[in-house]
Amino acid sequence: MIQYKTPREIERMRVPAEIDAEVLAIVREHCVDGVTTYDLDRIAEEETLKRGGRPTFKGYRGFPNSLCVSVNHEVVHGIPSRKRVLRNGDVIGIDFGVTYDGFIGDHAMTVPVGTVSAEVRKLLEVTERSLWNGIEQARAGNHLADISAAIESTITPHGYGIVKELCGHGIGRDLHEDPPVLNYVQNGRGPKLKAGLVLALEPMVNLGTEKIRILKDGWTVVTEDEKPSAHFEHTVAVTSEGPRVLTRL
Ligand code: MG
Repeated sequence: MIQYKTPREIERMRVPAEIDAEVLAIVREHCVDGVTTYDLDRIAEEETLKRGGRPTFKGYRGFPNSLCVSVNHEVVHGIPSRKRVLRNGDVIGIDFGVTYDGFIGDHAMTVPVGTVSAEVRKLLEVTERSLWNGIEQARAGNHLADISAAIESTITPHGYGIVKELCGHGIGRDLHEDPPVLNYVQNGRGPKLKAGLVLALEPMVNLGTEKIRILKDGWTVVTEDEKPSAHFEHTVAVTSEGPRVLTRL
């Protein structure tokens, strides 16, 4: 069941979302050669606690850390490690949830370390653009599938693989609320969007095959062909004045 939020609740949701955006902006600056994914996790957690927030993912269904860090062919849900050192040419997906005053913000981006290939740069650019095209459709009166269609139609002309097993979601007091938001059109138009709906939109797009598998750690999702993947996510409220991106600084 969809949990619609009042304008007041959306105001409250701004706080975790803004903390999330601030923290990821800091983590992003640390995505440089020689840093470990564990270092990034520490920074994310410390900066969040400093702001009075709590890292939502820590302990969520047993996830061991605060930040999801997914390197190169890792799609999402990578576990930070002291042994994983970032190198020039890597791309790093950083995905982070913040809880504050009972509400949650969810935000992700994929960051190049130093110089990455033109091919990968374009993958990042197109994936981020698909997110913004999806956000643009998060309007009262539209249907859920309008968001999915905007994302899919941005990606498809480039021949990239859209991950089908994972998707965006409603968000609020819980990290994952109804409705699921597919990054492709399946069937039907889905529910009509109404003011008060808050969604985490998050296209996951692979340079090669759309096929994925999960590593033995039970979390890390990787591309089957080991080609790189990109992931961008914003928490967005449908309001009477149009889409409001809560995780934008
Ligand atoms: Mg999410």
